[in-house]
Amino acid sequence: MNKKTIKDVDLKGKKVFCRVDYNVPFDENMNITNDTRIQATVPTVTYLLEQGAAVILACHIGRPSEAREDKFSTKHILKRLSEVFKQDVKWAPDCVGPEAEAAAADLKPGEILLLENLRYHKEEKKNDPEFAKQLAALADIAVNDAFGVSHRAHAANVGITQYLESVAGFLMEKEINFIGKTLEAPQRPFVAIIGGAKVSDKIGVISNMIDKVDTIIIGGGMAHTFDAAQGLPIGKSLCEKDKFEEALAQLDKAKKKGVKVVLPVDLTIADKFGADANTQIVDVDKVPEDWEALDSGPKTSALYSEALAGAKTVIWNGPMGVFEFDAFAKGTLAVAKAVAEATKNGATSIVGGGDSIAALKKTGLADQISHISTGGGATLEFLEGKVLPGIAAIADK
Ligand code: AMP
Repeated sequence: MNKKTIKDVDLKGKKVFCRVDYNVPFDENMNITNDTRIQATVPTVTYLLEQGAAVILACHIGRPSEAREDKFSTKHILKRLSEVFKQDVKWAPDCVGPEAEAAAADLKPGEILLLENLRYHKEEKKNDPEFAKQLAALADIAVNDAFGVSHRAHAANVGITQYLESVAGFLMEKEINFIGKTLEAPQRPFVAIIGGAKVSDKIGVISNMIDKVDTIIIGGGMAHTFDAAQGLPIGKSLCEKDKFEEALAQLDKAKKKGVKVVLPVDLTIADKFGADANTQIVDVDKVPEDWEALDSGPKTSALYSEALAGAKTVIWNGPMGVFEFDAFAKGTLAVAKAVAEATKNGATSIVGGGDSIAALKKTGLADQISHISTGGGATLEFLEGKVLPGIAAIADK
């Protein structure tokens, strides 16, 4: 995957259409509660401006209907953009049409223009060619820094490349380099940790990881489906009966490939789902009928640490338990620590998924990880080994 980046093109005096992922969360007063996604584009936007380009920022916020609900307007992020980029940011009340065209035409090198929400037009998600052409008409070149939408073929990241050359911004380049190159040629031992609630969401990732890793740790709620499929008692723990066959097929595949599978050997169980539940630690074959497993146990945490010690590549997606409650966060925090420790000892570590990132932040270890991926669905599909249309559309070197 050798894609052109903003370093490979002449940007001086160019108008740049820059697709960014500014789908940030707001509180009820429309204050931005987390601007990580905006901060993540600073290197790209700063570079474009320094090179003498005029930057036209295009993004979506939320899932607006055609009615142009005000809460999804990009005007709510304008002030924060001006603060982050330390300059006035202009705004166009639409992303195509006469007003957007006039604003883009007036834009001078070193200036920034923010377009209104791309998804106010249903043509964006339909990857409508005419709409893509109108977006392309605003600029001389397209830059794609919106990794988070790469698993979707929309007009502003894919359709537009029929009309303008599209190159990767620095954030996109970082994701491609870390995830893409790591999966292509991992240093070994390579350990994947896959947790979270549902087998159905992650079966594709588990399957692709088994093709690539030396060890796979399967934890969280989905581990109980693997346990139950093998005849273990799981009480009232989370379980997807219709996934037994697939779970057994993955275990079989791992065995044939010589991939070590680490499932919990002990569990923290609760008499109800809640922060104030009564808890016990039991071996994995001793879960009583009326109890449910909400975290792994201490023997399992030790196994995780052992599996991760000496790893040279680590990929982690999904928590090991209901980490939102302190009583059931121990397994996830143990993984966070073990991944940070492996990184300190020379491993390349990649963490994706909101919950694993939240857990890392809880331990204060986030800055010790090699790469924290910014895309939710896009990261998962990348880990599944799928071709992401948003990346495929970027020009090759
Ligand atoms: P996912 O979005 O699939 O990564 O799942 C994340 C969610 O899985 C988190 O909200 C966790 O609370 C939940 N989870 C993890 N382990 C368990 C478990 N043993 N039982 C129920 N939910 C769990």
